[in-house]
Amino acid sequence: MFHPVYELPVVSLNFPSARQRGIGIHLLRLDQIDERVSGNKWFKLKYNLKAAGEQGFDRVLSFGGAYSNHIHALAWAGKVLGIKTIGVIRGEPEYANNPTLSDAARWGMELHFVTRAEYKRRQDADFLHALKERFDDPFIVPEGGSNALAVKGTAEIVSRAIISDFGIDHIVLPCGTGGTLAGVAASQPDISVVGIPVLKGAEFLNDDIESLLKSAGCSDLNNWVLECGGHFGGYGKTTPELLAFIAMMASDYGIPLDQVYTGKMLLRVIELIDADFFVKGSQLLVLHTGGLQGLRSL
Ligand SMILES: *Cc1c(COP(=O)(O)O)cnc(C)c1O
Repeated sequence: MFHPVYELPVVSLNFPSARQRGIGIHLLRLDQIDERVSGNKWFKLKYNLKAAGEQGFDRVLSFGGAYSNHIHALAWAGKVLGIKTIGVIRGEPEYANNPTLSDAARWGMELHFVTRAEYKRRQDADFLHALKERFDDPFIVPEGGSNALAVKGTAEIVSRAIISDFGIDHIVLPCGTGGTLAGVAASQPDISVVGIPVLKGAEFLNDDIESLLKSAGCSDLNNWVLECGGHFGGYGKTTPELLAFIAMMASDYGIPLDQVYTGKMLLRVIELIDADFFVKGSQLLVLHTGGLQGLRSL
């Protein structure tokens, strides 16, 4: 199995605008859980891979873009656990040479490239059926790893850090599919959870998260909201301000952030503090969800 770091470090960041308002920013370093399966993807895969094994599957198939952290993590987990992995990748086969997919292929993942039109059908029963036939009956994990088993895994994240001294009243995290938010919110019903989607027009995630919570048997939660103003132009897009912020965090605070998820989320947290979104004295647990391998796409 993996030998991940058990107790995850929390670093308190001293930003002037937060200090003036008595707001604490406590960064939970999921990026430090494992060198390769970094961050939230470890928690999302954990019970999926366990279920695949228990149900007698010897291979796992999932979906992602050419720089997908999920695909990267799945490939490494498959290598470590001796499970064959298949990645259905949106895009052209020439992406196979990029750092993310070269790692995945080196770790034994079979890459299958599909067009954008095909990729859109990733939840259709007939498309999934054809993939099952073609790849010899794999266990299928959805894009980003988000399903009920992922919610069970991400519900363990906060318990892996010692936060009792901070008086945390908010948890803030970046959202792609919302699977991580679902588990975190379900596990912390008394804390207000703020998700920052990194894609444009992400209001649809409200319904997706509701369904995920329902499938995991934890509906009727009302401790979470999405704050949809932190996409910086859309999924995978960057701005000069965002890149400068990431560079500053590395040089002045020694905190590595990626440009797809954690950089956007933390910069948005600072904007929200400046806009008095959080009341004075709030104590924020901010999740560094990992994803640093994606920095290589810059
Ligand atoms: C995948 C990912 C997310 C998004 O997680 P969801 O559960 O899809 O919302 C956030 N941060 C990082 C670093 C990721 O790799």
